[in-house]
Amino acid sequence: MTRVIVAGGSIAGLGAGVALHGAGIDVHVFERDAGSLSAAGAGLVVQPELSRLAEVVGGQTLPMTHCSGRRYLGFDGRVGHLQRMPQQFTSWEAVHSTLLKSFPSERYHTGASVLKTDNVANGIEVVVSGLGTFAADVLIAADGAQSPTRRALLPDLEARYAGYVAWRGTVLERDLPQVVADFFDDTFTFTDARSGGHALAYFIPGEGLATARGERRMNWVWYVGADTAERDDLLVTKDGRQRHASLQRGMARDEVVEDLKRRAPLELHPMFARLVEATEEPFLQSIVDLAVPRSVFERTVLIGDAAVIVRPHTAGGAAKAARDAIFLAELLAGPRFSTDEALARFEREQLAYGRELLEYGVKLGKQWARL
Ligand SMILES: Cc1cc2nc3c(=O)[nH]c(=O)nc-3n(C[C@H](O)[C@H](O)[C@H](O)COP(=O)(O)OP(=O)(O)OC[C@H]3O[C@@H](n4cnc5c(N)ncnc54)[C@H](O)[C@@H]3O)c2cc1C
Repeated sequence: MTRVIVAGGSIAGLGAGVALHGAGIDVHVFERDAGSLSAAGAGLVVQPELSRLAEVVGGQTLPMTHCSGRRYLGFDGRVGHLQRMPQQFTSWEAVHSTLLKSFPSERYHTGASVLKTDNVANGIEVVVSGLGTFAADVLIAADGAQSPTRRALLPDLEARYAGYVAWRGTVLERDLPQVVADFFDDTFTFTDARSGGHALAYFIPGEGLATARGERRMNWVWYVGADTAERDDLLVTKDGRQRHASLQRGMARDEVVEDLKRRAPLELHPMFARLVEATEEPFLQSIVDLAVPRSVFERTVLIGDAAVIVRPHTAGGAAKAARDAIFLAELLAGPRFSTDEALARFEREQLAYGRELLEYGVKLGKQWARL
């Protein structure tokens, strides 16, 4: 039986675990983080690949919120008409916990970092912190945008900074003034910002993944222009550490958060400003583009954000991770191809799709972010 090791237990890695296990492959997932992994969690627009992974492949119901349409606001207070466009939303936390239900707990190892890999004949040996050395036919590196595996294999490849950051925040619906909760209800809401950029907001599942009105969580994103020096300054944490890609909740310096809240009423529609003001711990993501020139290196394959990072405007990062997971499992488990042929086919299709999505994200960035 094919044996697979997955480095990284987020959406791409755990998704690969679920899809491979469901296809009868012997798979173990090693996740570096020992905690609940929800610190970076925010809202996700549900795309078909994501519900396919959770519901069809995983056999679980994905907690989702719904809206019936989109509304575009202006920073000057304009309120546009509701355009009918039903959409479903979920959260990183909801996807992760749904996938976990479909995967045997004894095969999901937390606090387990993949430290070292060595190619051996027709396979790979992997050293995992605290657990020892494991042999496998294939290593799936789903270790994220900062992928240590990618950095070791492609040391000269750097992500390209897009010139703006995304501030994000979530607020429990019950903690919002009723008038604000009512204003955003049943709507995917967008606003432009006075100095360029835009913001968007939608409800996602709340505590305990509740989706009923009054129990949800509001999720917002505000794209803000920042040159490289400004971005680097924003990415210095409360305790003075320089981060390179993102700040999780609670990491942003107080003066940076105060400045964001001071600017919100000057830049955004008043209702959006109230969301920003009501958010206790906004968090930050530097917007970058990256696509690997190749994703298969003997028996190691990069998937998810380790291979291709797309802009959030595509609402496609999580769906791309789910797509990688499903497609790779189909090829590795199917009878038609040898392991090496399966990996070669995966690489061709994955990279073609990833580059297309990356370019689409750049185009949407130019059109929407105006930064
Ligand atoms: C703040 C933020 C908001 C986002 N919002 C959206 C959104 O709204 N919609 C959307 O579609 N996408 C969104 N994305 C992107 C989306 O989350 C990712 O595209 C998707 O989760 C796939 O990521 P991944 O599993 O490839 O990597 P990640 O989610 O980054 O996971 C990588 C995992 O690998 C682990 N790891 C790293 N190194 C090792 C190692 N050596 N050994 C073991 N484990 C290791 C890490 O701890 C981590 O859990 C967002 C991303 C961020 C950062």
